[in-house]
Amino acid sequence: MYGQMMFKPLLISSLLEHAANFHADTAIISKNLDTSLHTTNWGEVSANAKRFAKALNALNVQHGDCVATLAWNNYRHVEAWYAISGSGLICHTINPRLFPEQLIFIVNDAKDRVLIFDKTFLPLILAIKTHISNVETFICLDAYDEDIKQALPEVQFYDDLVQQQTADYDWPEFDELTASSLCYTSGTTGHPKGVLYSHRSTVLHTLAACIPDSLNLSAQDVMLPVVPMFHVHAWGSPYAAAMVGCTLILPGPYLDGESLVKMIDDYQVTVALGVPTIWQGLISAAQKLGSQLCSMTRNVVGGSACPPSMIATFKQDYHCETIHAWGMTEASPLGTVNQLKAKHKDLSASEQAEIRLSQGRPPFGIQVRIVNQENDTTSIQQDVGAIGNLQIKGHWIVKHYFGASDALLTSDGWFDTGDIARLNSDGYLTISDRAKDLIKSGGEWISSVELENIAMGHPEVAMAAVIAAKHEKWDERPVLVAVKQPNSPITEMEILDYYHDKIAKWQIPDKVIFVDAIPLSGTGKMLKRKLREDFVNILLDS
Ligand code: ADP
Repeated sequence: MYGQMMFKPLLISSLLEHAANFHADTAIISKNLDTSLHTTNWGEVSANAKRFAKALNALNVQHGDCVATLAWNNYRHVEAWYAISGSGLICHTINPRLFPEQLIFIVNDAKDRVLIFDKTFLPLILAIKTHISNVETFICLDAYDEDIKQALPEVQFYDDLVQQQTADYDWPEFDELTASSLCYTSGTTGHPKGVLYSHRSTVLHTLAACIPDSLNLSAQDVMLPVVPMFHVHAWGSPYAAAMVGCTLILPGPYLDGESLVKMIDDYQVTVALGVPTIWQGLISAAQKLGSQLCSMTRNVVGGSACPPSMIATFKQDYHCETIHAWGMTEASPLGTVNQLKAKHKDLSASEQAEIRLSQGRPPFGIQVRIVNQENDTTSIQQDVGAIGNLQIKGHWIVKHYFGASDALLTSDGWFDTGDIARLNSDGYLTISDRAKDLIKSGGEWISSVELENIAMGHPEVAMAAVIAAKHEKWDERPVLVAVKQPNSPITEMEILDYYHDKIAKWQIPDKVIFVDAIPLSGTGKMLKRKLREDFVNILLDS
């Protein structure tokens, strides 16, 4: 017998409807490309999303077609992606920092019919246009602009399309398993692969993101997603903001430390989300500008390991709690979030800080396990603290890559993350490394992340990446690639000495290479693949 309760499909449009019904006058402030600011609210965003949904319906697109966006975090982008998914189309957010060949590949792979773009990306569109013939409609996410019309005569303008429509539109109701959006992995470790989310997976993921043990969001928050909407939906933050009806501050392309400090102070941001490299820029700028970032109670960090020194700086200097989270495109992205338990309440500040370093616990909806080898289903680790391959399962985890027919999951239905990790007895996960980044020295594994975290603890090191270099005797040995703080005279020997009382001697890097900058991926992560190409033979050569 079924339960006798109402059924309502979990649809993305219902998030925006909720925000419009109960938080219509809550502000959404957005930085335009020309640095001016635009203020709107959930009521207007909802009305414009309905207008744009009608405009999309008038185009030659069918339920289930992909509509791509190539845009920064701004209010028009938020309106557009609710309009796309809400009306039954698939919102394909594209990372503009990918190489043109990768862009062409993913636009064609997704068979995008419409391409919506911020003005800044016109040169990119013109460069790839002849290679993306399935795109029939180009929409510039702005007001009419004669220069853009000249360069791309078939272009339509978002503001015109919205103004031509009225907001009398009811979001269609359809199966909650319908595809809602598409993201490609950022290609840090290989060719981008598509992950096709559903309305149901997205709404459940949003619920999990909002709860106190996750990001602890409420209508009182002022949220600043620094992580771009093209990086796994800004980790779902614009959905979560609608669910709780909080204020949203959208930084546009201005992700440098000084711009962010200003936005945080001007709008009293309470919670911000971004990758570690963003927070590094923010801390330097706050120091330079003398800001205390007073309003910010917490910042969410994920995407790559957060150096312990960064968590300590936020806590001690800015009274800001850093929430360390782990996730991936294949997990929508939230997998684990670090919040303390009641039993940790009476621990000392340093003991609590120690717990906060890990990547945290899974929220309801996610299961995690550690196995001995990649794609293993038999040797599941029962020993607490044992290191192995991390596998996950849950309501918002990928089943197949987009367009792929080959089985992705293990025979018992788990997704192998490619990460090496351990779990403690309280269910807190610590990521040691990506399997591909581990260093195998004389048959023993060395975690590159651990070595990076130590180097980052040195006050004169601005950025550190550790890679495996080939070694005649040991197969591989760690090499540290580091960026010095400006004008620092620090030497290779001083950094190597710094490791001595912090790690086993055989794990200390063989060499330090100083560089001016470490190459970053499109999502702001250190591109170790590139460093490996440059330095893999450095120990053989010397
Ligand atoms: P890509 O694999 O192309 O970088 P993703 O953004 O999906 O794209 O990256 C997911 C990966 O990022 C994870 O598998 C993990 O290796 C790494 N990662 C994410 N969050 C963390 C974290 N908090 N600590 C360490 N690694 C992390």
